[in-house]
Amino acid sequence: MSKQRITVHVFDPDDRTLANELLWDAVETQAFVTGLADIDTIVELEAKGLMVERTAQQDRTRLELGGDRGGGTLGLGHTLRTATTGDIDAAAFTLPNAETILTAGEDRFLTGQVPAPYLLTIEGPLLPEYRAALADLGITLEQAVERETFMARLDAATVGTAHDLAFVQSVVPLKNMTDTLGDLVSAGDFGTLGQSEPDVDDSVLFLDLRRDPRFDDDAAILDAVLELGGEVVDQSRRKMRIAFPAGAALDALAAILTRLPEVDLVEPYVPPELHQDHARPLVGLRPAPTGLPPAITFDGKGEIIAIADTGLDDTHPDFSGRVSAVVALGRTNDASDPVGHGTHVAGSALGDGSASNGTVQGIAPGATLYFQSIYSRTVNGRDRLEGLPLDLETLFQPAYDAGARIHNNSWGNAAFLARYSISADEVDAFVHENPEMLVVFSAGNEGTARNARHAQQGFVDLLSVTPPATAKNALTVGAQRSDRSTGGGADRKFGDFQPDRYPDPPISQQTVGGDPASLAAFSSRGPTGDERIKPDIVAPGTAILSARSKDAGDHKFWGNEAANGGKYAYMAGTSMAAPQVAGAAALVRQYYREIQGLAEPSAAIIKATLINGAQFLSGADSVASNPAAPNYDQGFGALDLWHSLPHRDRPSFVMQSIDATDAANGAINNTGDVREYRISVDADLPLRICLAWSDPPGRGVQNDLDLAVRRAGSSKRWIGNEDRPQLRKDFDRQNNVEIVRIEAPEAGIYQIRVAAWNILRPPQPFALVVTGAIGPTIDALF
Ligand code: CA
Repeated sequence: MSKQRITVHVFDPDDRTLANELLWDAVETQAFVTGLADIDTIVELEAKGLMVERTAQQDRTRLELGGDRGGGTLGLGHTLRTATTGDIDAAAFTLPNAETILTAGEDRFLTGQVPAPYLLTIEGPLLPEYRAALADLGITLEQAVERETFMARLDAATVGTAHDLAFVQSVVPLKNMTDTLGDLVSAGDFGTLGQSEPDVDDSVLFLDLRRDPRFDDDAAILDAVLELGGEVVDQSRRKMRIAFPAGAALDALAAILTRLPEVDLVEPYVPPELHQDHARPLVGLRPAPTGLPPAITFDGKGEIIAIADTGLDDTHPDFSGRVSAVVALGRTNDASDPVGHGTHVAGSALGDGSASNGTVQGIAPGATLYFQSIYSRTVNGRDRLEGLPLDLETLFQPAYDAGARIHNNSWGNAAFLARYSISADEVDAFVHENPEMLVVFSAGNEGTARNARHAQQGFVDLLSVTPPATAKNALTVGAQRSDRSTGGGADRKFGDFQPDRYPDPPISQQTVGGDPASLAAFSSRGPTGDERIKPDIVAPGTAILSARSKDAGDHKFWGNEAANGGKYAYMAGTSMAAPQVAGAAALVRQYYREIQGLAEPSAAIIKATLINGAQFLSGADSVASNPAAPNYDQGFGALDLWHSLPHRDRPSFVMQSIDATDAANGAINNTGDVREYRISVDADLPLRICLAWSDPPGRGVQNDLDLAVRRAGSSKRWIGNEDRPQLRKDFDRQNNVEIVRIEAPEAGIYQIRVAAWNILRPPQPFALVVTGAIGPTIDALF
């Protein structure tokens, strides 16, 4: 009988003994035993309750044969990649000079001047000894492309040697990096640029090009750009923006440029847009009983929140004395707010209500503001954000240097929904390199119910998150409805506002406010193109009353409020939801600094804390993609500080956390490594566990950790994200946030395991947050 490679996850010594007994050529790690097995052995292992994981190749074969594992229930992969490499390449070769440019690139590779990209597929998990054997040949696996398939740049001479390694299945040239590593932009998308976007100046078209950073000489790229009739208009460490004249065949140009050995990714550039909009009680900051101070006493004091938005009315009393800087990036020496968006966003994050006797307050009224004004001008009625730098590192770094550890972004690119864009990669790279920086993005307002492909009639379609909110390491925020039933358009119906987007009931008939268990119809839905959960969390985003800029006209708002001297106005949008989460992050960060004594809590631990406490909403549209957490409508649920942080009014609620920030305190170095923790649990409260990590940049999860939970003396096992949209309770191979939620736990000792399924780029720090009626300590077993 033929044998295949399988991996058996081992949770205790009995599992390990049995796996070692039954597998051929077994290799052991702390987390699993991998080896060869025939089908009878697999059946026997599974019958005994062991968790068996097949190779990606076997899973694909079983899927093609109608096997038992269907991957995502939505089968999204078939609809996302609408263009083929064949289509684009065919177009490319009709351009003049194309052949010359491509041949020159090929020649430089063949003569050993440059390494070329390959896809290298191994068999089973990426064991440390595999990585070492590859390193001996001078090969670095740069990016995980799929499970067990990696991109590496190889010299012509190394290709054969790599192929000869026993664990290497295949080594094939990667012809088109953008096709494989980016989310391919279809030829159709390119073709409509300048037509569907009324604000796009169609006399010029742009491509963004990311270089391989190892080449410090741009000559070959610049030559090719010139030959193709383009002009470099902006440049950073890794990136160029190239202008082409109107009518240029962008898809063909991109296909040629992406074939140059020095080029990583190429994508069209379209200007990003703003994501326009009682919140405090709704997010868990409940009013105090008479005579008592509020139960949650944190207000963000000592935290600096950075906000990149239109501008700031810095004369508004609600920010008085708490603005550390207002930086003008979009207009020369002018950071005022004629749009009203930035002032409103800042008010939701940290306004203190000075102009309203404390009644209209943001979430972190004690925090300090570092504001970056990115609004430049209004073209054809659209507010342009030309102050955004070419490379987002240039946006985040000055804020980081000014002490901000939370950065809010209520904007995104509506032209390339669900895609992992170069800018998403930049967000992930920055957070990976600066792991204390929490970057918050609004999910986008692209939710639409017309002609839905992945939702029932009258429900909002999937796949509409706007990059860079698709980034893995961002905390991405969708919008739930406010509980207001009047004001700010709350009593109007979604179908009245936008009948073209919401033509059918039920969504067309539902009101914008009044039902906080439901979502804003416009709130962008997940998943991302690589089928990750997004948004991560939702917060109120309709009929939001916040600070009004004195320089913005009435038409900029969803409603004005005469009270309080006209200092406040209504807006709606995921733009308004994101800063509430940024404000909440400031409270959580303050908690970790002041109560837990962490000088620099990681972005991952703050993200894990907020996600762990999120309340899963029950509205029909909130659970349309999946009845349990997480799903593609609301992610892990709605922001809820009451259930996120310990406080006076929930005395039996305890939070334990691990912030494994480096190798010295638990960060993981190798595939197969395990960290295990023990905690005692009472039956009083739900038990909730969240694992989060800031992954290396790249499309899809690069370093894959797995969360598993067991109760001592029981064979019952909980797996991270086991209730996500999928057919089987397998480990999650897509997401860098994993949860276990046990609504009514039996009392006992629980073991929490963090295991490394794949470590491409060590070390991998992680954060683990555990809440419930749990014991006073969390014990690290190993
Ligand atoms: Ca995982």
